[in-house]
Amino acid sequence: MAESPANTQALVEEIKQLKEEQDAVILAHYYVDAQIQDLADLTGDSLKLARDAVQVQRSTIVFAGVHFMAETAKILNPEKRVLLPSLEAGCSLAESCTAEQLAAKQEELRRQGHDFVTVTYVNTTAEVKALSDWVVTSSNAVDVVRRIDPKKKILFVPDQHLGRYVMQETKREMFLWPGSCIVHEIFSLQHLAKLKEQHPNALVIAHPECPKSILDQADMIGGTEKMRRFVMSLTEPKTILVVTDANMIHPLQKHAPQHQYVPVPGVSAETGALCELNRCPHMGLNTLESIRDCLKRGAPEIQWQPCFEAAQKVVVRSFLEH
Ligand code: SF4
Repeated sequence: MAESPANTQALVEEIKQLKEEQDAVILAHYYVDAQIQDLADLTGDSLKLARDAVQVQRSTIVFAGVHFMAETAKILNPEKRVLLPSLEAGCSLAESCTAEQLAAKQEELRRQGHDFVTVTYVNTTAEVKALSDWVVTSSNAVDVVRRIDPKKKILFVPDQHLGRYVMQETKREMFLWPGSCIVHEIFSLQHLAKLKEQHPNALVIAHPECPKSILDQADMIGGTEKMRRFVMSLTEPKTILVVTDANMIHPLQKHAPQHQYVPVPGVSAETGALCELNRCPHMGLNTLESIRDCLKRGAPEIQWQPCFEAAQKVVVRSFLEH
């Protein structure tokens, strides 16, 4: 049941007070609920938040996002306490590629005589990052791949759609892992076509985790920060069809209110049901209550793991030195 505005305000005030008491800062991804984004000290995409996490002066980071993001924040800030409001907040991409599966694939390619580097999307566990040469986000994947020695082959994990898009942009052949995002995978081409008919002058902005059939319809393809900068660069009011998690409309609206934003629906892969507002269920586990509770209890906390050390070298080289 939705909280009344008075209760919501009381919760927000309680969180602000706890934040001071616990010397904490709240980082929120653009895919969490609008009220959490408004309450956060810093918002952004995975790359921006990872870089922001290193600048944080306070001793505790509350990460309103999913597990791999909080883990990355801890990897970059070993001395800080990193709290994640729900340990259940996972990611279908991270689950699609375990360290054992990746190690087996790398071994198979080596046995076949391939000289390759492993480029890993940030949406993975620390164990997988530790087995990688580069970690990328949707914002910097194309740039990183362009800098890789052309004599080397590339194994790209785990998002096949982002990998295919990067292949197309860089003209580099890559071995693609068959993972995908449960949110971006289900955007409906049929509903997008209908919306384009209803709004003939609309622009389509799409996340590169979408399948190629959707990306082929887009006027702009990019991660969430690129989307934000793109809409801000358009001074003339437009209708914009948004093909990413529907919560992204909140920062777009905030930073470029001159436009009208229309979320493109998804169709559930399991039931065929229409999702008018296609949102990540893992991100949805971040609520004002769960943020309040994790600040109160100082848990769940991301604990340092032995594999973080190897992952740290790759993440620092990928995000902070380039
Ligand atoms: S939106 Fe997709 S890629 Fe992002 S956290 Fe959710 S499942 Fe993972």
